[in-house]
Amino acid sequence: MSNSKKIAVLAGDGIGPEVMAEALKVLEVLERQTGLTVQKTAADVGGIAIDNHGKALPESTIKTCEAADAILFGSVGGPKWEKLPPAEQPERGALLPLRKHFNLYANLRPAIVFKGLAGASPLKSEIIGEQLDVLVVRELTGGLYFGKKERQADWASDNMVYTRAEIERIAHIAFQAARQRGKKLCSIDKANVLTTMVFWREVVTEVGKQYPDVALSHMYVDNAAMQLVRNPRQFDVILAENMFGDILSDEASMIAGSLGMLPSASLAGAPGKEGAFGLFEPSGGSAPDIAGQGIANPIAQILSLGMLFQYAFGLPEVSKRVHDAVQSVLDQGNRTRDIHTAGTTLVNTKQMGDLIVKALA
Ligand code: NAD
Repeated sequence: MSNSKKIAVLAGDGIGPEVMAEALKVLEVLERQTGLTVQKTAADVGGIAIDNHGKALPESTIKTCEAADAILFGSVGGPKWEKLPPAEQPERGALLPLRKHFNLYANLRPAIVFKGLAGASPLKSEIIGEQLDVLVVRELTGGLYFGKKERQADWASDNMVYTRAEIERIAHIAFQAARQRGKKLCSIDKANVLTTMVFWREVVTEVGKQYPDVALSHMYVDNAAMQLVRNPRQFDVILAENMFGDILSDEASMIAGSLGMLPSASLAGAPGKEGAFGLFEPSGGSAPDIAGQGIANPIAQILSLGMLFQYAFGLPEVSKRVHDAVQSVLDQGNRTRDIHTAGTTLVNTKQMGDLIVKALA
């Protein structure tokens, strides 16, 4: 593997720059430990880009991303830009075009409950168990959301279309992710009702033959929605088309409790030895209610950096090390405000970052 990499750092708005600063401290340690040199180029995105360049995703930012091996993204948006027309607002104006421009067709959202944080989940502790780690892999650029739309006075329609190639490429990503984890993949469909989903099941089954070490199962989406709250621990990797994945990944992240703990990745390809291009960001937004106070939880941003090493640089062991460092800091009783409970130590954003750096070193 080449030992020099480039990333675009798009911190964005609200708590974005605060949590990004902590992730960059962690990155410094990881560079030393892996021997990798990571060239970081910062660029404006979202509200700050509107202020500085007149649009949420300026050409110069796209160029910075094009020159990089991956994008580390913070979050965008805030009350200041809410009066703009929807298409020009930070989230719509930056994230959707970025996904489109880089063909980020695979969205990976882990729902992780770390040991000791089962109390943060709205589910009973006995359902969560000691810890929980489910990965939802969602197809992001096809299906109902992107099919032909029609609107007449008395009817409207949306068209769900999937090609074999679209299903195959997302299935490969899910199988490969399962291979690096618990080796179980549950593919979600509605094959009892939708022709597209009969086809989905056939193609996923076919791709599965190339992964005999991964146990493949299929589940209807309505059952999956129930099973996620009844017994989430039965899942390792969940694969779903765009709309089902949208709904199930939100449900799964709610099970995990605080948004401040959840990373995500959007990939433009199946990661080979050298990884794949992708955008890595916290699942949550810019949290304007706590921005500027130094109290946001930086863990989602730091775990997103871990995912970047795993999927963009092809170094899953680094992601595991970051995960273990976070767990050890939590084991010592340290908590930011969003996950703080009686008997634990309240720390701020910077202290949490420093503790994770120390645990890694
Ligand atoms: P949000 O995720 O920003 O906040 C929801 C709640 O979660 C808030 O109470 C917030 O304080 C909390 N939270 C989120 N991240 C946290 C963290 N790291 N530490 C502690 N608490 C955290 O969602 P919202 O309030 O619906 O949206 C706020 C803004 O963010 C809007 O402008 C929205 O458009 C934008 N947004 C951006 C993205 C993105 O950049 N990908 C995603 C969602 C929302």
